Amino acid sequence: MPEKPLSRYDVLGAPTLSSYPHGGYYVKIDCAHCRVKRIYEPVDLIPLCGDIPIRSVARRFRCELCTRKDYLAAELLSPSAKELVGMPLRKLVRIKLIRRPIWKDMKL
Ligand SMILES: [Zn+2]
Repeated sequence: MPEKPLSRYDVLGAPTLSSYPHGGYYVKIDCAHCRVKRIYEPVDLIPLCGDIPIRSVARRFRCELCTRKDYLAAELLSPSAKELVGMPLRKLVRIKLIRRPIWKDMKL
């Protein structure tokens, strides 16, 4: 028996990033303060955020311009073929780990 294709409701009703692995869906994160928006592929966000719901993704980010977190909002996009032409997309190139020392002051 052939596998039934996912309906639009099945895809949009799925709650987490891994529910959108096949393309056609994007996550838009915008800052209401700066009016800046970035568009990501869901699979690029999983290594950074884990497999979390789309609406929770914004909490894991900070605006590059105003450095605030509280104005960010994330939403799922399903652009049409016409909207995809020339759409800016931010791709994950690599994850850079930063070693930061943590000090503790004490008395001898
Ligand atoms: Zn901002």
